Amino acid sequence: MSSLRNEILKKQRIVIKIGSSSLQHKETGDLDYTKMEVLVRELCNIRNQGKDVILVTSGAIAVGKKAVGAFRVKEEEGHLGFKQACAAIGQAKLMMIYQKMFAEYNQTAAQVLVTRDTIINDLSRYNAKNTFSELLSLGVIPIVNENDTVSTYEIEIGDNDTLSAIVAALTGADLLILLSDIDGLYTDDPRTNPQAAFIEEVEVLTEEYLDMAKKTTGSNVGTGGMNTKMIAARIATNIGADMIIANSEDIRIIHRIMDGRKYGTLFKANKDDDFRMVSYIQSLHETEN
Ligand code: GLU
Repeated sequence: MSSLRNEILKKQRIVIKIGSSSLQHKETGDLDYTKMEVLVRELCNIRNQGKDVILVTSGAIAVGKKAVGAFRVKEEEGHLGFKQACAAIGQAKLMMIYQKMFAEYNQTAAQVLVTRDTIINDLSRYNAKNTFSELLSLGVIPIVNENDTVSTYEIEIGDNDTLSAIVAALTGADLLILLSDIDGLYTDDPRTNPQAAFIEEVEVLTEEYLDMAKKTTGSNVGTGGMNTKMIAARIATNIGADMIIANSEDIRIIHRIMDGRKYGTLFKANKDDDFRMVSYIQSLHETEN
């Protein structure tokens, strides 16, 4: 076991992010209950080891769309109001399923919904931080998503990769695991370049790795793609958390990672006391506009 992977065994507060595509059946868009069950079991098992776990889950809009799908025509699906309504329907449904599954393993789950405003505004951020801290001290597993029902482009974070890194920062987590439909970072697009090599560990997030990430994005997998994963890596490593990108094909990869085995790409924490997360989040929005 490499020394970096050895460190994983000591992690005490873990944020795990799962994307919509990892929770749905490709053929129908319906939820994959087997995957959800395994996810919940893995999280409860980490909790049972006395560690804190936070889940960042997508799926609100996808589940909502599926619920009303039969009554709507395709063109309407892009409308903001429709998406927000779907999120309202889907988030409640998603939580109902998670609550039921967590209860089966005797764990209490809680819902925390945030927007970009929650993070930018000092008072809201302070409140969110306190809520997380209280939930974790109660032994509860927070389940986080963006509050898509009220969030519009101007106030949204927009993707759950970035959101999960923000949550890691707010909770002082020491590990962030991004479960996606890619194995991790490659030197180049593995679909077009057979010479593309897999990167197991990134000691320091240099420009060289960011360039590789752009090429890996070429494979165009995952909702957020590699770009948002690099934003997450920048936040996570700067606030002092390790981050791992791993393939959600087999959700049991979570305990394999927690056992210190070499799965996914590990980005080593490099705590920078001068890093200002809020300014960084604001700057992301400015470059987009
Ligand atoms: N918050 C969105 C949802 O639950 C997903 C965002 C993302 O997948 O990055 O549908």
